[in-house]
Amino acid sequence: MDLSFTPEQEAFRRTVRRWIKTNLPARDRDVQPVEYGDPQHVQQLKAWQRKLYDAGYIAMGWPKEYGGQGADVVHQNIVNEELVLARAPALIGMMGIQMVGPTLIQFGTEAQRRRYLPKILKAEEIWCQGYSEPGSGSDLASLKTRAELVGDEFIINGQKVWTSNAQFADWMFCLVRTDPNAPKHRGISYVLIDMKAPGITVRPLIQMTGDAGFNEVFLEDVRVPRDNLIGELNQGWLVANATLLHERNMLGSTVHTQQMFNGLLRLARSHQRYGRPASADPVIRQRLADLQIRVEAMKYHGFRQLTDSIRKRPPGIGASVNKLASTELNHDITGLALEIMGSYGWLARTSRRIVARGTWPIDFMFTLGLIIGGGTSQIQKNIISERGLGMPRERSVVSDQRSAAS
Ligand SMILES: Cc1cc2nc3c(=O)[nH]c(=O)nc-3n(C[C@H](O)[C@H](O)[C@H](O)COP(=O)(O)OP(=O)(O)OC[C@H]3O[C@@H](n4cnc5c(N)ncnc54)[C@H](O)[C@@H]3O)c2cc1C
Repeated sequence: MDLSFTPEQEAFRRTVRRWIKTNLPARDRDVQPVEYGDPQHVQQLKAWQRKLYDAGYIAMGWPKEYGGQGADVVHQNIVNEELVLARAPALIGMMGIQMVGPTLIQFGTEAQRRRYLPKILKAEEIWCQGYSEPGSGSDLASLKTRAELVGDEFIINGQKVWTSNAQFADWMFCLVRTDPNAPKHRGISYVLIDMKAPGITVRPLIQMTGDAGFNEVFLEDVRVPRDNLIGELNQGWLVANATLLHERNMLGSTVHTQQMFNGLLRLARSHQRYGRPASADPVIRQRLADLQIRVEAMKYHGFRQLTDSIRKRPPGIGASVNKLASTELNHDITGLALEIMGSYGWLARTSRRIVARGTWPIDFMFTLGLIIGGGTSQIQKNIISERGLGMPRERSVVSDQRSAAS
């Protein structure tokens, strides 16, 4: 097994690093996730993605005709790693690039790919995901938003919830019920909805961080052209699950976790507990060692996934392992940071006594959300045990979960 990069890949990494140093000013690093932003922040993030696109660093693995580079995934991986290491802001168009984009490449018509993919890459159109509904989260196939086909249009009525970024998204990839009489996961279709269409109301929801990152989306007699259907009518479950596999991979980044862990080490060495640095406390050292072992294990799992991508194998069960392991690990890292800081950890962002600019409590709450979003840890465990380990399936419970890929 050879885990090293080739001289050409190392040279590419140096080029990318230089480019980021020149093009990403220090003031734009370490910015909070986009949910905490205002409209001006959204514009800045769009400009940043456009800059990356113009440099050829976005979706390098996509075919050239849709705006990609036709490059191998290792190069994109190197770019992603360097962006995280430089503390670059998260890409505002991530749901387009990582979720609906790959889905369109797999299931879209040629016309749909040419219409949507280039604008996704250039951040000209931002996407959100309309899956969850009140009462339909893990049991996603029970969703009720109804789409009636009238002539060459769908007329859509219903409600979505927890829709991240809907407050500034231009488009939503959305699951709707097109056949209420079919078994529940056979009557669903996958449609693309213009967020400016009449009949759509977006209402922000405040999260425990105090910011509004996700939303309720109400749909009242929203007209959507039949051309916006992805895949076959009533076969949306298949398409939806392809998107979910990409989402799970998106939510776990080895380098990001490594960086969080390095931040934790710095905190443990600098923050005093009982008259000595926290890192000198044997109990804390034991906890740090435990986390570092998990970080290393995740790194090697990341290499395995990279190998799968290079060999063009679908993400499969590895995506669930990645989602489960990385989101829980990130939350545990932030949890230990708060323990080390003691009472200082919970000071409000405005307090002058905050430690490390007050980011740890925000990260603690944010990482908890990611354990739930994209399918909860319990659901990932069900998938891994049933599909990965071949353990018995309990049909009544799991057949229609957010997880069901078949
Ligand atoms: C930060 C964040 C961002 C999100 N963004 C989006 C978005 O952009 N678009 C979107 O559509 N949705 C989004 N969601 C919604 C998310 O997908 C759902 O919250 C998630 O799928 C869980 O559904 P639920 O909240 O209805 O919980 P429920 O399904 O009601 O689950 C409640 C609890 O029961 C457990 N549970 C349920 N079924 C089983 C089972 N069969 N076996 C074992 N345990 C089970 C769950 O693990 C959980 O602990 C987001 C959520 C969060 C937190």
